[in-house]
Amino acid sequence: MSSLITTNTTTEEIVILGSGTGIPSLKRGPAGILMRVAGQTVLIDTGPGTLHKLLTLGITYADIDKVFYTHYHPDHCAELIPMLFAMKHGEPKREKTLWLFGPPGLKKLYQGLNNLFKENLSPRTYNMEIIELWDAEVGFEDWQITARPLVHLVPSLGYRVTLPSGKVFTFSGDTDYCEALVGLAKGAEVLVLECAFPEEMRLHGHLVPSLCGRIAQEAAPKKIILTHFYSQWNGNDILAECRKYYSGEFVLAEDMMRIPL
Ligand SMILES: [Zn+2]
Ligand SMILES: [Zn+2]
Repeated sequence: MSSLITTNTTTEEIVILGSGTGIPSLKRGPAGILMRVAGQTVLIDTGPGTLHKLLTLGITYADIDKVFYTHYHPDHCAELIPMLFAMKHGEPKREKTLWLFGPPGLKKLYQGLNNLFKENLSPRTYNMEIIELWDAEVGFEDWQITARPLVHLVPSLGYRVTLPSGKVFTFSGDTDYCEALVGLAKGAEVLVLECAFPEEMRLHGHLVPSLCGRIAQEAAPKKIILTHFYSQWNGNDILAECRKYYSGEFVLAEDMMRIPL
């Protein structure tokens, strides 16, 4: 069982909330990453189950400062619905501003969902800012995040986070091979990289071991954490497959894996 994260910690780390996909698995939940940076609680994607995973770390809907969406497939964003519902109706009341970032379409997604759920998602006791990004840099007090469009089935962003220490963490979201992702991951301390399917089951818009190996070689991050495994991988040795294409440090993500930055 994971230990609790206190909300005033100065530790910088990421926690893999889900290393799986939208297809239910007892071992791997849908996509989501918790990032503790500069005393802030930041999420990248909120797949189904995100709020419950956060609770096991002692983090509630009231603690979340910012959410960055890579794209709007349900396995990456569906928890937006219960998250906003909890923020509206939960006790203790949420008071601080919620910042939502993502590719174009985020405002429309929110408005559509809020209509569908009869205004049960709109903020009541706090402010919400929705910022659509596309090939953009966003700077905060002492850290920054760079978004670049990648190649997926819908408009999709990858993110490069530069921490106050200068260290870099990159998340691919869902993507095919593309130079933009190599750029985002250049020299990163940690790259969390999707590896959705085995080599012989390659689908456009996702990565397979040979493409992960190519990105690893070209970007040369210190550590690569592979994630987003579809059930087509079941029974296969994912690490062995990936190591055919790259001899550096590959690690398989597990749900609730904590990686210090
Ligand atoms: Zn997707
Ligand atoms: Zn996905």
